[in-house]
Amino acid sequence: MAKIILTGDRPTGRLHLGHFVGSLRRRVELQESGEFERIFIMIADAQALTDNADNPEKVRQNIIEVALDYLSAGLDPAKSTLFIQSQVAELCELAFYYMNLVTVQRLQRNPTVKAEITLRGFSEQSVEGDTQQRQGIPVGFFTYPISQASDITAFKATTVPAGEDQEPMIEQTREIVHKFNSVYGPTLVEPEILLPDNAACLRLPGTDGKAKMSKSLGNCIYLSDTAEEVKKKVMGMYTDPNHLRVEDPGKVEGNTVFTYLDAFCQPEHFAKYLPEYASLDELKAHYRRGGLGDVKVKRLLIAVLNEILDPIRERRKYYEARIPEVYEILRRGSEVARQTAAATLAEVRAAMKIDYFDDAALIEEQAKAYANKN
Ligand code: ATP
Ligand code: MG
Repeated sequence: MAKIILTGDRPTGRLHLGHFVGSLRRRVELQESGEFERIFIMIADAQALTDNADNPEKVRQNIIEVALDYLSAGLDPAKSTLFIQSQVAELCELAFYYMNLVTVQRLQRNPTVKAEITLRGFSEQSVEGDTQQRQGIPVGFFTYPISQASDITAFKATTVPAGEDQEPMIEQTREIVHKFNSVYGPTLVEPEILLPDNAACLRLPGTDGKAKMSKSLGNCIYLSDTAEEVKKKVMGMYTDPNHLRVEDPGKVEGNTVFTYLDAFCQPEHFAKYLPEYASLDELKAHYRRGGLGDVKVKRLLIAVLNEILDPIRERRKYYEARIPEVYEILRRGSEVARQTAAATLAEVRAAMKIDYFDDAALIEEQAKAYANKN
């Protein structure tokens, strides 16, 4: 079976290091591996609207930001189809049919949906600082796992590179595929999630030490941050609160600076930036023993991050000077995506027996039956 990728991001802000380690970096590697027949990368604007219905301008403005981040990170429109979700109307129709295959109770049990209901301020325990008093859960938001299933299956994706928070979504998709195929006959492909292989990247914490770097939490280092901004953010980062003096022994576990080093640091970085240590393990051991200050560790992290971000910044500058060209890439990608989704939709309609006008036999049979009767 052809290996196909579908993945994407919500245009609710610029992309950050969490996106990079959770999915983006992997996509570029997979794109270069030549292992995949097709790669579809989606800007999920319709999904972003499920919890931003009152702020369409935010979604509209961020489409270009996400596209610029994609191209800067190394996604190549000649190898990967970059497209905008709302421009593929077929996805809505698929979701509408899948809704009949999922129960309300099943959606209510989805742990990501549950967590996000709180995070997005749809419940009483909304996050602090969310001044907007919103009441109730929009139906569109509640059903977004179903819409995600149509995004994935429309392209017959076998592989979804994503962060750990997406696991329940892929599980939901697999259930829908299973149900669809058993009711209507084998039509859809069951996808698999491709998680980062490094534990630190499954869910990169925020610069504030919170469990997840997330646009909604304002604890991000963005791919488009300048070297100065990165420096400021890292210097302000949470470490081990009990590591007060340089001589004190420090903790590495739960220390966000070390988590980031786990996610980004390569052995060769030591020779380049901190030659007195041979490896991250040696640096950690010294920190644990005591005698290693936070600032030294943070300086290493700043150097490593800026080394990774520099070529991304360069490419961003290139594409920022070519905005109409970027929109053209998205327009062409959306057209390709629409054709692919339409082909799957035609198969779905046929399997569900809602292809009346294409079914000459049906019309003929019924005509005959009535002719015999009269
Ligand atoms: P929002 O707050 O609007 O949901 P987000 O920052 O959570 O934004 P998404 O667009 O929901 O970003 O996520 C896109 C992809 O990036 C998903 O595959 C998700 O798993 C991954 N991702 C997002 N944040 C992280 C993170 N901190 N660590 C690892 N992966 C992440
Ligand atoms: Mg999210």
